[in-house]
Amino acid sequence: MDQQSAPVPALPPHVLIFPFPAQGHVSSMLKLAELLCLGNLHVTMLVSEYIHSRLLRHTHVHSHFARYPGFCFRTISDGLPEDHPRAGERVREFFASLKSVTRPLLREMMIDTNCFGTETRRPVTCIIADGTMSFAGDIAIEREIPLIYFRTASACNFWALFCLPELIEADEIPLKGNGMDLPVKSVPGMEDFLRRRDLPSFCRVDDVNNLQILKAESRKTLQAQALIKNTFDELEGPVLSQIRAHCPNLFSIGPLHAHLKARLASDPMFSSTYSSSFWEEDQSCVTWLDSQPSKSVIYVSFGSITIVTRDQLMEFWYGLVNSGQRFLWVMRPDSIVDKDMESQIPVELVEGTRERGYMVDWAPQEEVLAHPAVGGFLTHSGWNSTLESIVSGVPMICWPYFADQTINSRFVSEVWKLGFDMKDTCDRVTIEKKIIDLMNVKKDEFQERANQMAKLAKRAVSKGGSSYCNLDYLINYIESMIK
Ligand code: UDP
Repeated sequence: MDQQSAPVPALPPHVLIFPFPAQGHVSSMLKLAELLCLGNLHVTMLVSEYIHSRLLRHTHVHSHFARYPGFCFRTISDGLPEDHPRAGERVREFFASLKSVTRPLLREMMIDTNCFGTETRRPVTCIIADGTMSFAGDIAIEREIPLIYFRTASACNFWALFCLPELIEADEIPLKGNGMDLPVKSVPGMEDFLRRRDLPSFCRVDDVNNLQILKAESRKTLQAQALIKNTFDELEGPVLSQIRAHCPNLFSIGPLHAHLKARLASDPMFSSTYSSSFWEEDQSCVTWLDSQPSKSVIYVSFGSITIVTRDQLMEFWYGLVNSGQRFLWVMRPDSIVDKDMESQIPVELVEGTRERGYMVDWAPQEEVLAHPAVGGFLTHSGWNSTLESIVSGVPMICWPYFADQTINSRFVSEVWKLGFDMKDTCDRVTIEKKIIDLMNVKKDEFQERANQMAKLAKRAVSKGGSSYCNLDYLINYIESMIK
């Protein structure tokens, strides 16, 4: 055959995925990356050097992704020293550093690497940037590369932030310290249940000028051609409809962890998943759970960023021990303000924990929530934790710490009725009562609703389900961008 007429296989689209460098964002965007690889796209995953080294230390992510020749990692500095906590209140410094250091680096990188193009990969044909880092979107626009934002938190959070101009106009924010229980009327669709205290916590400022950046950022989503949400239509349908009126190309493809599992399960070649934890997972808690009765354990975890004071820690501890329930508690080593407390733990807490509790630095959370011994989740209402709880059918007690968590917890309690919202309180009596109510008094009621929602979540990511179809549309859409 004449060599010139041999067909040249077309290179697939090449997507650059750029997550905000925090656990929940990186985990969900890695899942998206793998789903796109399964759809035969090329993917470059750009993560901070700090995150990359944590992944190398604690996961098998590299060997896992080696099965996808179209996938590669690239790294970039987040501008902070290695020992910066990147948690609690100091998350603000993190945002500032990304803007001042990472933004110019990314701009240079796109030029120096010909947009990550090689002989076997096209230069990037589409950027999927974390919606909390709109500077990446600005660079995509400068380089005339199609842009999709991925907002990793809930749709309800996004919609409330999108309505900031109306909230400010109606004088519903800034919250001036009082009137926290007044109803919010300027977020369409949420008039019947949203109070000022339920708004995303960044609204808790006294000066309207402190909201300008947030206001501009949420509207900047409109500069992208499309928006991806880690949620599903059956969970947040009414809110998604509101957003679709502004962003018609909205792809709700979650819960991503369940979606990935479902797609991998249907492909015998690729049937294993992996951990993307930044801390070492302590598997001994699963062995402990194995010896506990069915649905008897309340799992306690406040995610990767929350920091608690010693007083708050003591209230939770007393609440848990006094409830008489079995508990598995994740206490991240960097999550307590005053670490020097080992010697001062009251004997009744030590005893109660030895009898009915188990503590770890970091747990394999998805596995824990899916364990038959777990009957409840005391959570900070991070969006990934909320979705993981929903998929496993585990009712929740919510103690939101900040950001989207304050609105997620309201939806858990008032809209989906999957548990209690304990926001803005932290006393041992309330904690004890909520645990007893969740695990005993109202157990059947919550469990039934949790089972129904878990079924809907699983259906959404199964063949023909809403999220499953939306992912196929998304892949077609990314392919159409190069035509
Ligand atoms: N997680 C985990 N083990 C733990 C605690 C948390 O694997 O001991 C994972 C959890 O499964 C979730 C993520 O960390 O995927 C936390 O994300 P989320 O959005 O819930 O909260 P954030 O950490 O962003 O506040």
